[in-house]
This record gives sequence, structure tokens and C-alpha cells, in this order.
Amino acid sequence: MIAKTTDLTRVYRLGASTILGVNKVNLEVEEATLVSIVGPSGSGKTTLLNLIGLCDHPTSGKVFFMEKDTSRLNDTERRNLRLQNIGFVFQTFNLLPTLTALENVELPMALAKKSQAAQREEAARLLKAVGLAKRLQHRPRELSVGEMQRVAIARALANHPSLILADEPTGELDSKTGFEVINLLSELRRKEKTTVIVATHDERVARVADKTYRILDGSITQE
Ligand code: ADP
Ligand code: MG
Repeated sequence: MIAKTTDLTRVYRLGASTILGVNKVNLEVEEATLVSIVGPSGSGKTTLLNLIGLCDHPTSGKVFFMEKDTSRLNDTERRNLRLQNIGFVFQTFNLLPTLTALENVELPMALAKKSQAAQREEAARLLKAVGLAKRLQHRPRELSVGEMQRVAIARALANHPSLILADEPTGELDSKTGFEVINLLSELRRKEKTTVIVATHDERVARVADKTYRILDGSITQE
């Protein structure tokens, strides 16, 4: 089991009002599988990924990551666990505009204090794996949106994460490019032995997933 949540709840407080971001979510994610969390805008997808990705603290309930109860970790331990084991893919790619594709992919490895030579070699390997062998020196503005998302996926794979969290990865892409990105994420199970959780409203992700959860108003049901 890579990730598991038990009665995971996040309440947002805004002045006098409270909003239930996620409500008693129980889910289990097995190694080397693709899990989709499908729901409309505002249903709690980003809230849930932020909690599983150890970027936010639950109001109640727990996140277990690789059998560890993460509520028992301090901030440094959480940060290290995240840096070493979790990669993120966002709707808007979040690439650094002044860096080349290669340098964007090297960045998480630099944070993990890998040697320069190892960074370069691994970044080139990952960019090849996502089909961008001929784009290593391109900057984001010189790439198509589909290529930008591939760079972001290669970056998420740096440091060999056990888990990739993808938040609306096809949200900015046209139908055909979105389909290619879904297939690429789907291949990671076999190619890189990575577990992937995709939060999306794109029904096509559910079709390639090993398991699908539906989320609505912060509550999930398994399909
Ligand atoms: P999704 O990613 O599915 O669109 P979110 O997880 O972003 O949904 O949001 C779930 C609900 O929580 C929404 O009603 C949203 O308005 C609310 N919400 C999200 N983040 C915050 C926040 N930081 N403060 C207050 N409310 C929030
Ligand atoms: Mg969202």
C-alpha cells in the first residue's frame, strides 16, 4: 500500500463560515497502479491531493504514506518524505520559464542534492522517456502545451518518486493532446513502476485507471 486515508477531513474556515473541503474520505492506493479521482469543479479534488501530498494538514482523520502515519511526523520529516517520494503534476504545468526543459527536470534533483552529472543524465533519460529527446534545450515558451505537460511529468518523475499526484493534468490541453498525456501517465505504471493518482473531471482517465473514486461535495465513493 502506497497511500491510505482514514476518515480524512479538511474544513476551511473563512471568517464565520466553514466549508467542508473533504469529508471523511477513506481510500487505498496500491503500488504501481493508476487511481483516478473524478469529480466536478469544487468537489474537493485539489484539497484531497494536497492532503495526500503532505502539503496541507487534515482537520481530522489521517494520511498513511508507505505504511507511515504521517500525523506523527514533524515538518522536516514531512518535507523530506514528500521531496523523496512524491512528484506533482499541475493543470498549468508550473514550469520555470527561464529554464530549459532539461534544467526544469533537474531542479527537484538539485533540491535533493544529487550530483550535477547525475542530474543531467537522469533528466535527459526522463525527457526521452516522455518522448522529448529532441527538446532538451527548449524553454517552455518554445514548446507546445502538450510538450510542456510532458516536461512537467518528467520533472515529477525525478528522484524516482513512489507516487505521482496529478491535478487536472489534461485541463489545459485539447482533446487529442489530453489523450496522449493520459496514455503517458498510464504507461508509468509499467515503465517507471510509479503509482499515479489523477484528480480530474476527464472521464477518459477513469477508462485507463485500475481503480476510480467519484468525489462530490467532499465525499467519495468507489466505483
Ligand atoms: P476542486 O479541486 O475539485 O475544484 P477544491 O478542493 O479546490 O475543489 O475545493 C473544494 C471546496 O473547498 C470548494 O468549495 C472550494 O471553494 C473550497 N476551498 C478550497 N480551498 C479553499 C481555501 N483555501 N479556503 C477556503 N475554501 C477553500
Ligand atoms: Mg482543483
